[in-house]
Amino acid sequence: MEKPNLKKNQELELDIQDLSYEGKGVAKVDDFTLFVDNALPGETVKAVITRINKNFGFARTLKVLKESPDRVNDIDAIYAQTGIAPLSHLKYSKQLEFKQHQVEIDFSKIGLKDVQVNPTLGMESPFNYRNKAQVPVRQVKGQLTTGFYRRRSHDLVPMENFLIQDPKIDAEIIRVRDILRKYNVRGYDETNQKGQIKTIMVRRAYFTGEMMIVLVSRTPDISHYKDIAKEILANKDVKSLFLNINSRNTNVILGQKMTLLGGKKYIDDKILGHTYRISPRSFYQVNPVQTQNLYQLAIDKAELTGKEEVVDAYSGIGTIGLSLANKAKHVTGIEVIEDAVKDADKNAKLNDIKNTDFVVGKTEDVLNEWAKNDMSCDVLMVDPPRKGLASSLIDSIKNIQPEKMVYISCNPATLARDLSLLEDAYEIGDVTPVDMFPMTNHIECVVALTKK
Ligand code: SAH
Repeated sequence: MEKPNLKKNQELELDIQDLSYEGKGVAKVDDFTLFVDNALPGETVKAVITRINKNFGFARTLKVLKESPDRVNDIDAIYAQTGIAPLSHLKYSKQLEFKQHQVEIDFSKIGLKDVQVNPTLGMESPFNYRNKAQVPVRQVKGQLTTGFYRRRSHDLVPMENFLIQDPKIDAEIIRVRDILRKYNVRGYDETNQKGQIKTIMVRRAYFTGEMMIVLVSRTPDISHYKDIAKEILANKDVKSLFLNINSRNTNVILGQKMTLLGGKKYIDDKILGHTYRISPRSFYQVNPVQTQNLYQLAIDKAELTGKEEVVDAYSGIGTIGLSLANKAKHVTGIEVIEDAVKDADKNAKLNDIKNTDFVVGKTEDVLNEWAKNDMSCDVLMVDPPRKGLASSLIDSIKNIQPEKMVYISCNPATLARDLSLLEDAYEIGDVTPVDMFPMTNHIECVVALTKK
């Protein structure tokens, strides 16, 4: 392939042919591929090249010359500049089709041609769903400012309406920002490693309304911190306030040191009728409405009768295992983070659930031991992070031979890979994408497997 003579900052007209898995428009110049922000299939756009690599490049839309009927125009252009809602320019019904299609592509690439992929289960109201915000804070024009990063950068775009977050969280971020401004607290200056507040993290429990706030600071010496804490806690919905110190200049948001400035150490929320205790570092699903739908679907697919030994692998704070415990004989949760396991045990007690145990460890290690010791498991639920299942775990599964498996996945590519490795031993059911992250390109799926 001859690389055409394209340069950074060059402006050109592009016909968009496809949408990449990241939600970028795909255009070809000769045979060279450009990925174009904010451009849809069927559109002609005027774009500027932002980067050229060896085999492909990136561009940004300056003007849409021919518009797709699937484009949504009523969303503030500011979101197109940030990574917070990269699909917000596409009609929601088309986002759902896009996600279903992406799963089909990943499955057919790996040779799983006969698996049925159902339409994506979407939200009735696909905005304002996130129960958690981690908003970067910077000193901009002499003022502490909150917003979001421009795509592929750490430049802060000041922002007050985050579109996909609970509006009460957006309002709380503004209130906390104004309190910090009042006491002349400085926002972080990344270039010079100066200033203080790097991130404001807010969690709001959807069902109870309880809020947790974590102020992440570069240094611990915040003047007037007692007055600041008092003013933040004056909002009675704020049940928990932490100061976290993170002196490192990396993308990791939370540092090691976490100090309670006021209130309690956790907030409570509910999923499918059970109460859960959430600590600042716990993994907790960010879309409460869809979490219930996702869990219910996964539980239905497990077809429990009350007699099963169930394993809830990658159990976090125990939410899936505890949601289905009353339909099983016994549930064992497996989770690598010790604090999450402690939370899961507490959550079992809190809900008076007695047929669960949660163990600390890697799923692949724990189930390897189970395989060696002839332990039985009738139903295996897995909900791994993006990298999917370890290959040693696939071997253990084939040794233990659970009758049924339910795989919840946040990455269709690793899901397809893992299913292709299990295909000889398991019948693969239909796959249902559940839209946990509207306006973004993230895809969550559920599929049940039955022993052959
Ligand atoms: N099922 C939970 C958590 C899912 S997120 C829920 O719905 O809320 C995935 C979880 O897997 C995280 O809690 C993470 O800490 C844990 N994890 C990551 N790798 C793991 C491994 N190898 N073994 C066990 N748990 C792991």
